Amino acid sequence: MKVLATRRLPGEAWEELGPVEIGPVDGRRDDVEALIVSGDAVDDALLDRLPSLRLVANYGVGYDNVDAEACRARGVAVTNTPGVLDAATADLAIALMLAVRRRVVEGHELVREGRWGSSWSESPFLGRDMSGATLGIIGLGRIGAAVAKRARAFDMRVLFHRRAQTADPGYRELDDLLREADIVTVHTPLTPETQGLLSGRRLALLRDGATLVNTARGAIVDEDSFVAELVSGRISAGLDVFAHEPNVPEVLRSLPNVVLTPHIGSATVETRAAMTRIVVDNVLALARGEPLLTAV
Ligand code: NAP
Repeated sequence: MKVLATRRLPGEAWEELGPVEIGPVDGRRDDVEALIVSGDAVDDALLDRLPSLRLVANYGVGYDNVDAEACRARGVAVTNTPGVLDAATADLAIALMLAVRRRVVEGHELVREGRWGSSWSESPFLGRDMSGATLGIIGLGRIGAAVAKRARAFDMRVLFHRRAQTADPGYRELDDLLREADIVTVHTPLTPETQGLLSGRRLALLRDGATLVNTARGAIVDEDSFVAELVSGRISAGLDVFAHEPNVPEVLRSLPNVVLTPHIGSATVETRAAMTRIVVDNVLALARGEPLLTAV
């Protein structure tokens, strides 16, 4: 079975695939049956060039880069890598919260640039406590729940919003969650329903001094409105994802109230190897005619 991957994936499991062609999909390819993508766009135009394709194996849990409907219409299965990256992504969300609330990066830059001196006593880097703060989790799925677990260890008060309403006392309608939380963290997938979910109107509901952390997808937040709020200094943010990656709005790079990371939510040696394991097992299942492990 011909397997094409847009890049080689890390981890020992990769070797089990045998020969894999690495590279972009150039021109029409009648032979490719399984395509392994790492966030690369899979749309109708690409599918047109792969008439024998049976599987798109996405290296990541979020598969907004894949037109799943177009795949379904052609009988092409789509798989993702759920579950194994929850801890790593939740850890990064907590790291961004701590970095922003305790001004870790600002402090780091001050020390590294040799500016730690008399000016420090005038502005002694007062941050805000995590302990006792109210955390609002948007999307209490696998990763959101992992964040909630960690937040409880920090003695935070945890509120959440999801599609399914529940009688849980922590459940809030989205607007109420935004009004009430000191820190908001986003953990929904990017879908037509969540695109722009955090609109300018909703961002304006955030309390003065609130922090928004996004390790989900940039386009869930209206980036122009968000940038305007951050430039005003009214709120702060920890961001791993952006609407037009790898482009980051220029103005964000110099703001003291923003901490930026380059989409590294799942980027640990252990987690990436576990994601590769799932990709490989799905491709091997296809080759053997067995059920796929994680079809979306
Ligand atoms: P999941 O288990 O499917 O959970 C998604 C949650 O979002 C569910 O609670 C769901 O609500 C909620 N949700 C979906 N649509 C919604 C809507 N319109 N309004 C409100 N809530 C909505 O997903 P996951 O595995 O935790 O992953 C979440 C996302 O994180 C992925 O899709 C991916 O884009 C992103 N991610 C990013 C990185 C990174 O490197 N930065 C790494 C991993 C994942 P219900 O429970 O009511 O269905």
